[in-house]
Amino acid sequence: MTSKLIDRFPPYGTFDRLKISGTMLSVWKRCRFKWWLRYMCGIRPKKTKPKMDMGNYGHELLRAFYMGENVQEASQKYWDKRTKDMFEEEEALFKDIRSTIEAVIQRYLEQYAEQDNFRVIVAEEDAYSHIPRYDGTISNVRTHAKIDLVAEEPAGLIFLEHKFTEDFAGREEDLPVDQQFDMYFWTVLNLFREQGLKVPLAYGVLNLINPKLPRVPGLLKNGKSLSKDKRIFTTEETYLEAIKEHGFDPADYEEVLTNLRENPRPFFKRIKAFRTAEQMERFESELRDAVLDIINCRNIYRNANFMCKRDCFYHPVCIIDMKGGDAGEYIQTNFKRRCLSESSGEDSREDPNN
Ligand code: SF4
Repeated sequence: MTSKLIDRFPPYGTFDRLKISGTMLSVWKRCRFKWWLRYMCGIRPKKTKPKMDMGNYGHELLRAFYMGENVQEASQKYWDKRTKDMFEEEEALFKDIRSTIEAVIQRYLEQYAEQDNFRVIVAEEDAYSHIPRYDGTISNVRTHAKIDLVAEEPAGLIFLEHKFTEDFAGREEDLPVDQQFDMYFWTVLNLFREQGLKVPLAYGVLNLINPKLPRVPGLLKNGKSLSKDKRIFTTEETYLEAIKEHGFDPADYEEVLTNLRENPRPFFKRIKAFRTAEQMERFESELRDAVLDIINCRNIYRNANFMCKRDCFYHPVCIIDMKGGDAGEYIQTNFKRRCLSESSGEDSREDPNN
């Protein structure tokens, strides 16, 4: 490939002890040029992640709950750790995140705490699993996945993958062919196989959690009734509570209440999925092929299409480079270079688009 960038930013990574995450695999399949910039050159945007976000906070509270710890105390500890170097003004910016996620987890536990009476084995742990070679011997190449929860039920082992998202659409349809889920399933399966455990892996669960709270309907300007906007993102219970609080008659709100009852908004959803032994064999074989492609990669080329602007933060770099310009200066200003002592697998929760 002709690119001024390839000479200017020689690779930092090596293939020794390669760790493959689901994210890395997705980026490789999406575009080799993107993969090379991200994993081989270690070029990442300067814009730093917020010091606190709902997803990571929520994962920590779920870890505490499933490991039998006090969730409130865990929240306080997490908060203290995250805010210890912050100025008061900065800390204030994150208070909303804390109160919202605590309330979201409280609602989650009201829904699931009783039914989740399985025996927890691990929660929120990094798992590495070696990829076998074609002859069955073990290679140095490992997969990396963050295990949200593995537990034991009478039917066997199960795992839960928690996802904090407002977007539940299409998840059920996508799950049977979801590569991240395959990777997760394979890693859990292989991990326990490597440890000689004979307990079967029964199924996995995509555990969708909406980080939004039900909205309380607003009082209209005249103060005599609540808004009856049917699009309101709330629950029937929250709406009813607001009616009672204002001393209004529920009969006047029958239409909106019926709509909420018949079309419950997506706050929580669990989708169970299973992978057969044949599916896992196929996944392992494709994983091995992809790893061999990565290791033996001689050619880096782009996969430019209409999605680039939306799903790739190297888009401006790519345009300059494609037009024959020198994107080096743009990179120096807007990106930082992270030294990769070894090719890195990253947190499987990381967004492949970023
Ligand atoms: S903008 Fe498109 S072609 Fe360029 S690196 Fe990103 S994904 Fe690849």
